[in-house]
Amino acid sequence: MAIDTFNVRFWGARGTLASTSLDTGKYGGNTACIEVTCGDEVLIFDAGSGLRGLGSKLAREARRADKKGEKRKKLNLLFTHCHYDHISGLPFFEPFFDKKTTVKLWSGHLPGPDKTKRMVHEYMRSPFFPVGPEVFTSKLEYQDFEPGDVLKPIRGATVQTMSLNHHDGCVGYRIDFQGRSICFITDTTHIPDKPDAGIIEFTAGADLMIYDATYTDSEFPMFWNFGHSTWEEGARLAKAAGVKRYCMFHHRPSRTDEALDEIRNQCKDVFRRSWAAYEGLVIKV
Ligand SMILES: [Zn+2]
Ligand SMILES: [Zn+2]
Repeated sequence: MAIDTFNVRFWGARGTLASTSLDTGKYGGNTACIEVTCGDEVLIFDAGSGLRGLGSKLAREARRADKKGEKRKKLNLLFTHCHYDHISGLPFFEPFFDKKTTVKLWSGHLPGPDKTKRMVHEYMRSPFFPVGPEVFTSKLEYQDFEPGDVLKPIRGATVQTMSLNHHDGCVGYRIDFQGRSICFITDTTHIPDKPDAGIIEFTAGADLMIYDATYTDSEFPMFWNFGHSTWEEGARLAKAAGVKRYCMFHHRPSRTDEALDEIRNQCKDVFRRSWAAYEGLVIKV
Protein backbone atom coordinates (compact mmCIF):
# COMPACT_ATOMS: atom_id res chain seq x y z
CA MET A 1 0.00 0.00 0.00
CA ALA A 2 1.41 3.40 -0.97
CA ILE A 3 2.41 5.47 2.03
CA ASP A 4 -0.04 8.26 1.10
CA THR A 5 -3.02 5.97 0.39
CA PHE A 6 -6.15 7.28 2.08
CA ASN A 7 -9.42 5.60 1.27
CA VAL A 8 -12.55 4.04 2.70
CA ARG A 9 -13.96 0.62 1.87
CA PHE A 10 -17.52 -0.32 2.77
CA TRP A 11 -18.11 -3.79 4.27
CA GLY A 12 -21.69 -3.06 5.35
CA ALA A 13 -23.77 -0.10 4.19
CA ARG A 14 -27.18 -1.08 5.51
CA GLY A 15 -28.73 0.37 8.68
CA THR A 16 -31.10 -0.96 11.32
CA LEU A 17 -31.15 -4.63 10.32
CA ALA A 18 -29.19 -6.88 7.98
CA SER A 19 -31.35 -7.47 4.93
CA THR A 20 -30.14 -9.96 2.40
CA SER A 21 -32.57 -10.74 -0.37
CA LEU A 22 -32.66 -11.07 -4.13
CA ASP A 23 -33.43 -7.37 -4.49
CA THR A 24 -30.72 -6.03 -2.14
CA GLY A 25 -27.74 -7.91 -3.60
CA LYS A 26 -26.21 -4.99 -5.46
CA TYR A 27 -25.83 -2.65 -2.47
CA GLY A 28 -25.59 -5.51 0.01
CA GLY A 29 -27.48 -6.52 3.13
CA ASN A 30 -24.77 -6.25 5.78
CA THR A 31 -24.92 -3.54 8.43
CA ALA A 32 -22.49 -0.77 9.32
CA CYS A 33 -18.78 -1.45 8.98
CA ILE A 34 -16.17 0.60 7.17
CA GLU A 35 -12.41 0.23 6.75
CA VAL A 36 -10.35 3.40 6.46
CA THR A 37 -6.84 2.84 5.09
CA CYS A 38 -4.23 5.44 6.04
CA GLY A 39 -0.95 4.49 4.35
CA ASP A 40 -0.05 1.06 5.73
CA GLU A 41 -2.38 1.35 8.73
CA VAL A 42 -6.08 0.66 8.99
CA LEU A 43 -8.90 2.03 11.14
CA ILE A 44 -12.15 0.11 11.47
CA PHE A 45 -15.37 1.92 12.27
CA ASP A 46 -18.33 -0.04 13.62
CA ALA A 47 -18.89 -3.73 14.04
CA GLY A 48 -22.12 -4.38 12.16
CA SER A 49 -22.56 -7.67 10.31
CA GLY A 50 -20.15 -6.38 7.63
CA LEU A 51 -17.29 -6.79 10.12
CA ARG A 52 -17.17 -10.55 9.51
CA GLY A 53 -15.94 -10.16 5.93
CA LEU A 54 -13.37 -7.56 6.92
CA GLY A 55 -12.13 -9.85 9.70
CA SER A 56 -11.51 -12.67 7.21
CA LYS A 57 -9.53 -10.34 4.96
CA LEU A 58 -7.43 -9.01 7.87
CA ALA A 59 -6.74 -12.57 9.07
CA ARG A 60 -5.50 -13.51 5.57
CA GLU A 61 -3.27 -10.44 5.52
CA ALA A 62 -1.87 -11.33 8.95
CA ARG A 63 -0.98 -14.84 7.75
CA ARG A 64 0.77 -13.35 4.71
CA ALA A 65 2.68 -10.92 6.96
CA ASP A 66 3.78 -13.83 9.17
CA LYS A 67 5.14 -15.70 6.16
CA LYS A 68 7.21 -12.68 5.19
CA GLY A 69 8.40 -12.25 8.78
CA GLU A 70 6.75 -8.82 9.07
CA LYS A 71 5.67 -7.34 12.38
CA ARG A 72 1.96 -7.64 13.25
CA LYS A 73 -0.03 -4.42 13.30
CA LYS A 74 -2.36 -3.55 16.14
CA LEU A 75 -5.97 -3.27 14.93
CA ASN A 76 -8.13 -0.35 16.05
CA LEU A 77 -11.92 -0.65 16.02
CA LEU A 78 -13.87 2.50 16.87
CA PHE A 79 -17.58 2.43 17.66
CA THR A 80 -20.06 5.14 16.75
CA HIS A 81 -22.43 3.51 19.26
CA CYS A 82 -23.67 0.04 20.14
CA HIS A 83 -27.13 -0.37 18.63
CA TYR A 84 -27.33 -3.89 17.23
CA ASP A 85 -26.72 -2.87 13.63
CA HIS A 86 -23.33 -1.46 14.73
CA ILE A 87 -22.17 -4.30 17.00
CA SER A 88 -23.72 -7.57 15.79
CA GLY A 89 -20.59 -8.61 13.88
CA LEU A 90 -18.28 -8.25 16.88
CA PRO A 91 -18.23 -11.89 18.08
CA PHE A 92 -17.46 -13.06 14.52
CA PHE A 93 -14.32 -10.98 13.92
CA GLU A 94 -11.63 -13.52 12.99
CA PRO A 95 -8.64 -11.53 14.38
CA PHE A 96 -10.11 -12.03 17.90
CA PHE A 97 -9.21 -15.70 17.56
CA ASP A 98 -5.51 -15.18 16.87
CA LYS A 99 -3.26 -14.89 19.90
CA LYS A 100 -0.63 -12.96 17.97
CA THR A 101 -3.09 -10.13 17.26
CA THR A 102 -3.89 -7.11 19.42
CA VAL A 103 -7.23 -5.38 18.93
CA LYS A 104 -7.96 -2.06 20.58
CA LEU A 105 -11.62 -1.12 20.95
CA TRP A 106 -12.63 2.53 21.29
CA SER A 107 -15.95 4.09 22.29
CA GLY A 108 -17.25 7.35 23.67
CA HIS A 109 -21.05 7.39 23.42
CA LEU A 110 -21.94 5.89 26.83
CA PRO A 111 -21.52 7.63 30.19
CA GLY A 112 -19.44 6.38 33.08
CA PRO A 113 -16.20 4.50 33.62
CA ASP A 114 -15.12 1.34 31.76
CA LYS A 115 -17.78 2.00 29.14
CA THR A 116 -16.11 0.18 26.26
CA LYS A 117 -15.42 -2.95 28.29
CA ARG A 118 -18.93 -2.86 29.77
CA MET A 119 -20.46 -2.50 26.33
CA VAL A 120 -18.70 -5.61 25.00
CA HIS A 121 -19.40 -7.71 28.11
CA GLU A 122 -23.06 -6.71 28.20
CA TYR A 123 -23.50 -7.46 24.52
CA MET A 124 -21.83 -10.88 24.63
CA ARG A 125 -23.61 -12.58 27.50
CA SER A 126 -26.14 -15.29 28.15
CA PRO A 127 -28.97 -15.68 27.26
CA PHE A 128 -28.48 -13.36 24.29
CA PHE A 129 -25.15 -14.85 23.28
CA PRO A 130 -23.75 -18.20 24.44
CA VAL A 131 -20.21 -17.07 25.32
CA GLY A 132 -18.51 -13.93 26.58
CA PRO A 133 -15.45 -12.13 25.20
CA GLU A 134 -13.20 -14.39 27.31
CA VAL A 135 -13.32 -16.80 24.35
CA PHE A 136 -11.21 -14.37 22.33
CA THR A 137 -7.57 -15.39 22.23
CA SER A 138 -6.19 -12.12 20.84
CA LYS A 139 -4.99 -9.39 23.14
CA LEU A 140 -7.83 -6.99 23.80
CA GLU A 141 -7.45 -3.36 24.83
CA TYR A 142 -10.27 -0.99 25.76
CA GLN A 143 -10.00 2.74 25.29
CA ASP A 144 -12.75 5.09 26.50
CA PHE A 145 -13.06 8.68 25.36
CA GLU A 146 -15.50 11.56 25.54
CA PRO A 147 -17.15 13.05 22.42
CA GLY A 148 -15.07 16.10 21.52
CA ASP A 149 -11.78 14.37 22.31
CA VAL A 150 -9.09 14.20 19.64
CA LEU A 151 -7.71 10.66 19.22
CA LYS A 152 -4.40 9.42 17.81
CA PRO A 153 -4.98 5.69 17.29
CA ILE A 154 -2.32 5.38 14.59
CA ARG A 155 0.77 7.25 13.48
CA GLY A 156 0.10 10.14 11.11
CA ALA A 157 -3.69 10.32 11.50
CA THR A 158 -5.80 12.53 13.75
CA VAL A 159 -9.31 11.46 14.66
CA GLN A 160 -11.69 14.13 15.91
CA THR A 161 -14.97 13.16 17.57
CA MET A 162 -18.34 14.80 18.11
CA SER A 163 -21.63 13.88 19.72
CA LEU A 164 -24.49 13.20 17.29
CA ASN A 165 -28.24 13.57 17.77
CA HIS A 166 -29.33 9.94 18.26
CA HIS A 167 -31.12 7.83 20.89
CA ASP A 168 -28.64 6.45 23.49
CA GLY A 169 -25.88 8.68 22.10
CA CYS A 170 -23.65 8.34 19.07
CA VAL A 171 -20.23 9.61 18.01
CA GLY A 172 -19.32 11.18 14.66
CA TYR A 173 -15.73 10.91 13.46
CA ARG A 174 -13.42 13.02 11.30
CA ILE A 175 -10.20 11.34 10.21
CA ASP A 176 -7.45 13.66 8.95
CA PHE A 177 -4.47 12.13 7.17
CA GLN A 178 -1.81 13.89 5.12
CA GLY A 179 -3.92 16.98 4.52
CA ARG A 180 -7.09 15.09 3.56
CA SER A 181 -10.14 14.16 5.59
CA ILE A 182 -12.97 11.64 5.76
CA CYS A 183 -16.01 12.23 8.01
CA PHE A 184 -18.21 9.38 9.23
CA ILE A 185 -21.52 10.87 10.36
CA THR A 186 -24.04 8.11 10.82
CA ASP A 187 -26.98 7.63 13.13
CA THR A 188 -28.03 11.22 13.57
CA THR A 189 -31.31 12.99 13.04
CA HIS A 190 -32.11 16.57 12.07
CA ILE A 191 -34.76 19.23 12.46
CA PRO A 192 -36.21 20.22 9.07
CA ASP A 193 -35.04 23.68 7.91
CA LYS A 194 -32.57 23.87 10.80
CA PRO A 195 -29.23 22.58 9.47
CA ASP A 196 -27.07 21.04 12.20
CA ALA A 197 -24.47 23.77 12.77
CA GLY A 198 -22.29 21.36 14.77
CA ILE A 199 -22.02 18.94 11.83
CA ILE A 200 -21.36 21.74 9.34
CA GLU A 201 -18.50 23.04 11.48
CA PHE A 202 -17.12 19.54 12.14
CA THR A 203 -17.13 18.47 8.47
CA ALA A 204 -16.06 21.83 7.01
CA GLY A 205 -13.99 21.38 3.85
CA ALA A 206 -13.79 17.58 4.22
CA ASP A 207 -12.82 15.53 1.18
CA LEU A 208 -15.57 13.02 1.91
CA MET A 209 -18.60 12.91 4.17
CA ILE A 210 -20.40 9.61 4.80
CA TYR A 211 -23.86 10.41 6.16
CA ASP A 212 -26.98 8.76 7.62
CA ALA A 213 -29.28 8.71 4.58
CA THR A 214 -31.82 6.29 6.01
CA TYR A 215 -34.87 8.18 4.75
CA THR A 216 -35.98 10.52 2.02
CA ASP A 217 -37.35 13.97 2.83
CA SER A 218 -40.83 12.77 1.83
CA GLU A 219 -40.63 9.80 4.25
CA PHE A 220 -39.19 11.87 7.09
CA PRO A 221 -42.47 13.19 8.65
CA MET A 222 -43.41 9.56 9.45
CA PHE A 223 -40.05 8.84 11.10
CA TRP A 224 -38.93 12.19 12.52
CA ASN A 225 -38.32 10.68 15.99
CA PHE A 226 -36.49 7.50 14.86
CA GLY A 227 -33.05 9.10 15.23
CA HIS A 228 -32.08 9.12 11.55
CA SER A 229 -31.79 11.60 8.73
CA THR A 230 -32.41 11.86 4.97
CA TRP A 231 -30.21 11.75 1.89
CA GLU A 232 -31.40 15.22 0.92
CA GLU A 233 -30.38 16.64 4.33
CA GLY A 234 -26.96 15.05 3.88
CA ALA A 235 -26.55 16.76 0.50
CA ARG A 236 -27.61 20.12 1.99
CA LEU A 237 -25.15 19.75 4.88
CA ALA A 238 -22.36 18.67 2.52
CA LYS A 239 -22.92 21.78 0.39
CA ALA A 240 -23.12 24.08 3.42
CA ALA A 241 -19.89 22.61 4.80
CA GLY A 242 -18.02 22.78 1.49
CA VAL A 243 -17.54 19.01 1.51
CA LYS A 244 -16.04 17.69 -1.76
CA ARG A 245 -17.57 14.20 -1.93
CA TYR A 246 -20.75 12.86 -0.36
CA CYS A 247 -21.66 9.23 0.32
CA MET A 248 -25.11 8.09 1.43
CA PHE A 249 -24.98 5.39 4.09
CA HIS A 250 -27.21 3.40 6.52
CA HIS A 251 -29.75 2.39 3.89
CA ARG A 252 -33.17 1.25 5.09
CA PRO A 253 -33.53 -2.54 5.21
CA SER A 254 -36.54 -2.30 2.87
CA ARG A 255 -34.73 -0.16 0.28
CA THR A 256 -34.29 -2.28 -2.84
CA ASP A 257 -31.43 -2.00 -5.31
CA GLU A 258 -33.82 -0.38 -7.77
CA ALA A 259 -34.91 2.21 -5.22
CA LEU A 260 -31.30 2.94 -4.25
CA ASP A 261 -30.33 3.36 -7.93
CA GLU A 262 -33.11 5.91 -8.24
CA ILE A 263 -31.96 7.78 -5.09
CA ARG A 264 -28.36 7.72 -6.32
CA ASN A 265 -29.44 9.28 -9.63
CA GLN A 266 -31.51 11.95 -7.89
CA CYS A 267 -28.61 12.71 -5.57
CA LYS A 268 -26.17 13.12 -8.48
CA ASP A 269 -28.45 15.86 -9.82
CA VAL A 270 -28.00 17.92 -6.64
CA PHE A 271 -24.49 16.79 -5.63
CA ARG A 272 -22.39 15.56 -8.53
CA ARG A 273 -19.59 13.75 -6.65
CA SER A 274 -21.84 11.46 -4.66
CA TRP A 275 -22.41 7.75 -4.07
CA ALA A 276 -24.91 5.46 -2.45
CA ALA A 277 -22.62 3.19 -0.43
CA TYR A 278 -22.52 -0.49 -1.44
CA GLU A 279 -20.50 -3.42 -0.14
CA GLY A 280 -17.11 -3.39 -1.81
CA LEU A 281 -17.21 0.29 -2.78
CA VAL A 282 -13.84 1.99 -2.30
CA ILE A 283 -13.66 5.77 -2.32
CA LYS A 284 -10.17 7.26 -2.56
CA VAL A 285 -9.60 10.79 -1.32
ZN1 LIG B 1 -27.77 2.28 12.95
ZN1 LIG C 1 -28.39 3.69 16.14
